[in-house]
Amino acid sequence: MKATCPSGQAAPGATLLGIMGPGGRVVFTPHGPSLTEDLRTHLESQVDGPLETRYRFATPCATTGCAFWDGACRALDAAHEEYPTAMAALPECGIRDTCRWWSQEGPTACAVCPQVRTRA
Ligand code: SF4
Repeated sequence: MKATCPSGQAAPGATLLGIMGPGGRVVFTPHGPSLTEDLRTHLESQVDGPLETRYRFATPCATTGCAFWDGACRALDAAHEEYPTAMAALPECGIRDTCRWWSQEGPTACAVCPQVRTRA
């Protein structure tokens, strides 16, 4: 099964994974909608700047097509360097079955994931 990137770009067909909420933590939107042109227009009306500053998107993991890939996803390493590991109940994110970060680290990935902002 193709792995899913939990911090993808707002490309056509990406899935809305969550919204940056209060305290800088993602509020996940399990089974979120695909990014259609209509949804993009709506979301862009809610944010001043790139969508990835306020929303998280799930996309197919690009492996060798991504600068973070060296046989594993190093974006997760970068996330651990930037954000504290805050263990809590596993978020209901909706992509765990295919999530690249979960496949690499399991619950430790989910402890940092909700703090990740794809773009500053
Ligand atoms: S790292 Fe964990 S919380 Fe984040 S998208 Fe993957 S499975 Fe979900």
